[in-house]
Amino acid sequence: MSATETSTHLRENPLSLARVQLARVGETFGVDSNLIGVLKSCKKSVEVSIPVLMDNGSVRVFDGYRVIHNVTRGPAKGGIRYHPNVTHEEVKALAMGMTWKCALMSLPFGGAKGGVICDPKELSAGELERLTRRYTTEIINEIGPEKDIPAPDVGTSAQVMAWIFDTYSMNVGHSVLGVVTGKPLALGGSVGRDGATARGVLYCIRTALQKEGRRFPDTRVAIQGFGTVGRNLARLLAEEGARIVALSDSGGAVVNSYGIDVAAAIVHKAEHGVLRGLPGTEEATNDDLLESDCDVLVLAALEQAVNADNAGRIRAHMVCEAANGPTTPGGDEILEDRGILVLPDALAGAGGVVVSYFEWVQGLQEYFWKEYEVNAKLNDIVVRAFEETWSTRERFGTSMRMAAYGLAVQRVAEATTTRGLYP
Ligand code: GLU
Repeated sequence: MSATETSTHLRENPLSLARVQLARVGETFGVDSNLIGVLKSCKKSVEVSIPVLMDNGSVRVFDGYRVIHNVTRGPAKGGIRYHPNVTHEEVKALAMGMTWKCALMSLPFGGAKGGVICDPKELSAGELERLTRRYTTEIINEIGPEKDIPAPDVGTSAQVMAWIFDTYSMNVGHSVLGVVTGKPLALGGSVGRDGATARGVLYCIRTALQKEGRRFPDTRVAIQGFGTVGRNLARLLAEEGARIVALSDSGGAVVNSYGIDVAAAIVHKAEHGVLRGLPGTEEATNDDLLESDCDVLVLAALEQAVNADNAGRIRAHMVCEAANGPTTPGGDEILEDRGILVLPDALAGAGGVVVSYFEWVQGLQEYFWKEYEVNAKLNDIVVRAFEETWSTRERFGTSMRMAAYGLAVQRVAEATTTRGLYP
């Protein structure tokens, strides 16, 4: 069963899980418990109601959130999620995750996240625009290029970012390119931003395979999720010669152990809205995909996809987290005991926010780079973070996840101590 077919994908409280994780990192790396106490909480959180005029003349009220977890290393940064199962605690956990992701990539940002409880697939373009403009207006005092910079996440797009940019700019009286990233190219977006998360995943898998003396052409990959990340990643991996043996979206999975024609899958999804029925594939469930016979399993859907119940049945030797929080700590422990290499979200899923950082810099300078420059700089940052994480893992004899979060938490802790507690 897919994530969106269940009543919610959140089997456990995501904020409690994030706090348990943080406490473990604090113990492993000897971070001052007072600091861990500070980092457990979010700096600021707004909850807003968003009345929207629907196409049928009725007014529907949606709930939305914007949470800033930490701004010690720079303005808060993080996406906005439109999904029916969004919860306030989920947004807080995701905001905390952005603090670690930005710190691990050495970006001068803190962490934030936003969310609106809605199903964007059921809203017309007009309803989506009115919802976005009203949500932006409700959080307008919180966001800004020096304060908090939203971006796309699950269920939002470049068009949504364009409406946020326009609403903010109309309110302040001039165009503010740096208020949001993931914008369309026509409005100061960055080349390479759309495929950036997928590209970051690609660079991580490639570096991990090199460590094992393997290459893409010998590698079978299953990808859970066929949104912006899963779709772009499937295309990039196929270009590198990897064999894509399973794909899934919220409607289920398609498999072919000899390899799926990714270009045909992209066309089929665009035409039919689902992967199901893709010629040359067999239908399967999302659980089948997670447990399929492959070398690398990429989690590019929602949180908690791999958990204590199914981690024992994963057959991949490498699990790569393109989504945020797709493995619960219980699932993680099982994967680790079984010797499966996990490339954690803070590392593998960071390509998007790295190119968001490039977009923010380009917007502030009003000077735009070429795609090869964006991709080369993205590669530098992601591979450097990978190597730092790898060597920390070896030094502390721990997992890639603990190493990644350990590096990130120590960076935020150092900045906090150096700045000092105000007042
Ligand atoms: N939503 C993406 C993430 O979770 C991108 C965030 C950003 O670009 O600010 O990493």
